[in-house]
Amino acid sequence: MKKIAIIGGGVAGLSAAIYALRSGAEVTLFEQFGLGGLVATIDKIENFPSYLSVEGWKLANDMSTQAKALGLKTIRQKVLSLTKSESDFVLVTDKDSYSFPAVVVATGTSHNKLGIEGNLVGRGVSYCATCDGAFFRGKPVAVVGGGRAAVSEATYLADICSIVYVVTAQNALTAEEKAVENLLAHNNVQLCRDTVVSEIIAAEGDVAGIRTFCDGQTSQLDVSAVFVATGAVPVTDFIHIDDVERSRGYLVVDGRCETTVKGLFAAGDVTSGSLKQIVTACADGAKAGSFAAAYSATVKQ
Ligand SMILES: Cc1cc2nc3c(=O)[nH]c(=O)nc-3n(C[C@H](O)[C@H](O)[C@H](O)COP(=O)(O)OP(=O)(O)OC[C@H]3O[C@@H](n4cnc5c(N)ncnc54)[C@H](O)[C@@H]3O)c2cc1C
Repeated sequence: MKKIAIIGGGVAGLSAAIYALRSGAEVTLFEQFGLGGLVATIDKIENFPSYLSVEGWKLANDMSTQAKALGLKTIRQKVLSLTKSESDFVLVTDKDSYSFPAVVVATGTSHNKLGIEGNLVGRGVSYCATCDGAFFRGKPVAVVGGGRAAVSEATYLADICSIVYVVTAQNALTAEEKAVENLLAHNNVQLCRDTVVSEIIAAEGDVAGIRTFCDGQTSQLDVSAVFVATGAVPVTDFIHIDDVERSRGYLVVDGRCETTVKGLFAAGDVTSGSLKQIVTACADGAKAGSFAAAYSATVKQ
């Protein structure tokens, strides 16, 4: 019997599930929150083939509905540790322990912190504009970061906030040209290049501004919220298997999305593959799910 576990219910994990289920495997997916992962929090997606524009929650919902219709079993638990015994992988969650002959890791990334947030997270400091932007409708806000995520977050906020300061330590925004053009077309967006945020100022326990440092000068911007979008690190700290190769923390996989440990596959943002996008996460998931299912059939139970 083909039997696999998938850790992470974002688009990589869901795609792995769809392919493994369709190949006849019994699939158990562990997800700590709701299905959909990061995609469920994105406002609009305009580069996923077949949609001119689609809301993130819809794409996530369609994918999880498809996986569930194929018989996906979901366990809403956080995986705390993954180890390997003689023939099986052992997953320990916050509630129980499980063993599987093959596993797909699709745990994505977690956002970097500025280190100066203090206790202001949820009091004006946020890591998700789609989740929290509406609380700051009509107010001035800052987005910290200059990459794809920062541009996407700032574009979303530009439609609902009075001013959006985009503060980046780099001298240019590094997202897709079209996305940058789209952001800068908003006349309420102000780009602060070569600028570092040195302090988040609070008043009565909520964010009231930021202190920035640029060209030897310190300035203050009065904002009601700070959206941090300064990159991410792969979520692999729960993997306690020595032979798993990593590159800058990301899991290294081969053309079948198998790691350097037999039977352990990985897909999506958690891998060292380039272009961390939905379409590539889905492609990884398809490979990881198919080959993990095929591998599990070869393991004696
Ligand atoms: C602001 C922003 C905008 C973006 N816009 C676009 C876009 O327009 N187009 C595009 O193609 N891409 C976009 N991306 C990138 C895209 O969202 C990612 O490439 C994609 O979501 C990666 O999917 P994933 O399944 O690998 O990871 P994730 O979506 O991060 O899913 C990982 C899942 O694993 C779960 N998990 C983690 N650890 C555990 C654990 N220990 N136990 C159980 N569950 C766990 C998490 O809860 C999560 O649900 C954007 C990213 C950001 C940040």
